[in-house]
Amino acid sequence: LPTISVIGAGLAGSEAALAAARLGVRVRLFEMRPQKMTPAHRTANFAELVCSTSLGGEGEMQSKGLLQAEMRSVGAAIVTSADESRVPAGNALAVDRDAFSERVTARVRNHPLVEVVEGEVEAVPEGICVVASGPLTSDALAADLIRLTGSERLSFYDAAAPVIDVDSIDMSVAWRAGRYDQSADYINCPFTKEEYLAFFGALEQARSHTPHDWEKLEFFEGCMPIEEIARRGVDTPRFGPMSPKGLDDPRTGRWPYAVAQLRQEDKEGRMWSLVGFQTGLKWGDQQTVVRLIPGLQNADIVRYGVMHRNTYLNAPEVLDSTLQLRADPQKLVAGVLAGTEGYLESSATGWLAGTNAARLALGLAPLTPPAESMLGGLTRYLASANPRGFQPMNVNWALVPELPAELNPRTGKPKKLGKREKRPPLFRRGLQAFMTWAGEDMGLEVTPPAVPQ
Ligand code: FAD
Repeated sequence: LPTISVIGAGLAGSEAALAAARLGVRVRLFEMRPQKMTPAHRTANFAELVCSTSLGGEGEMQSKGLLQAEMRSVGAAIVTSADESRVPAGNALAVDRDAFSERVTARVRNHPLVEVVEGEVEAVPEGICVVASGPLTSDALAADLIRLTGSERLSFYDAAAPVIDVDSIDMSVAWRAGRYDQSADYINCPFTKEEYLAFFGALEQARSHTPHDWEKLEFFEGCMPIEEIARRGVDTPRFGPMSPKGLDDPRTGRWPYAVAQLRQEDKEGRMWSLVGFQTGLKWGDQQTVVRLIPGLQNADIVRYGVMHRNTYLNAPEVLDSTLQLRADPQKLVAGVLAGTEGYLESSATGWLAGTNAARLALGLAPLTPPAESMLGGLTRYLASANPRGFQPMNVNWALVPELPAELNPRTGKPKKLGKREKRPPLFRRGLQAFMTWAGEDMGLEVTPPAVPQ
């Protein structure tokens, strides 16, 4: 039988191993715990949830709900184990932490084609291999990944700024321009003095997430969080990342008192990140502060800013949407290391990497899920996002193409649909596209999943 290797029995690696084994491929799954623990894991169980116990909101309104449904349709192991160990949590898929990882561990250990090899992997092995060693990849393996991809392509630290859905930006307040006569690549949000002081006051009051002892952060000047910049004085942000220099507000013809700039994150221009606003603020407070930026009063934050230790590749520079390394297509990457954020995203990319690794071993071409599906949207994003300052990404609705525009018969302009009108059809379109692809292109057994309402 053809054999592949998988490094790491976390969320991504456990799923990758079982997905490959299901296709009849032998798997050697390497896991360093319990011999060598990470600073966050507590047990020897596979797919240990290191923090919350939620795999995200469910149902047709939720982007995670679509990804869960896609994974259910192909009987993926993580979502199945989650369904079997769920606890009541409103509209979210939350689990009993121990029961969940014990189920995953049993599935992996009981599979006749999976051999678990205990111990730290210090170098990526020869042959077809899925690397899924996660945000706390051991130092030796990280050094080997640098050898494979180049040092500037592996980050050890996540200093991310909030990312905003472009549809929620009020362009009657904000405007597109570059500083002085540079090209109009930025969306600019102008502050009056009063607005700036109100924003600054909220920023001063906002509470930060306290880092664990083991991840006490030392900030480089270049990625100092906005709250830390603010601690240096009321004018420091507006002489730093919020400088208005060279930005004539078209409504006044003058430079505003301060400006918050947004830079495009994805190829289609649906997601924009706040430049210089990397932050470790608690999510509720972060939303309050962001919504005090003129033009962002209704901002829909598709990814919140975070500051924590993290190991991940600059996916758009090194990965294909099949999750293969461009420099060595026999090596695939999944989970946080591949530039995703979140338990569910990690497991879903693990499923794709494991399936594609097995296909390679069987002499078949690796495939990318359709763009309309949430998994396809995510892996296409990983391969094509703006590599400058790339940060790991959660799933969200801006990753999939919009519905075809319907014209308003009265005005002749495209109708603007609300979330409640848009998301259920996006959900059904995505799930159908995924199931057709998984059944017809991948040749897998597909069962339409029940969708929680
Ligand atoms: P992991 O699940 O960490 O799996 C990687 C595995 O590889 C581990 O078992 C590790 O022991 C093993 N390993 C590492 N190096 C080697 C080596 N050299 N040889 C062999 N084995 C190795 N996401 C959420 O959705 N919700 C949260 O609440 C959440 N909290 C988080 C808290 C922290 C502290 C961190 C760091 C991340 C958190 N995340 C959270 C993000 C992410 O979803 C999880 O880290 C998730 O577990 C990532 O899945 P993974 O498979 O990429 O990595």
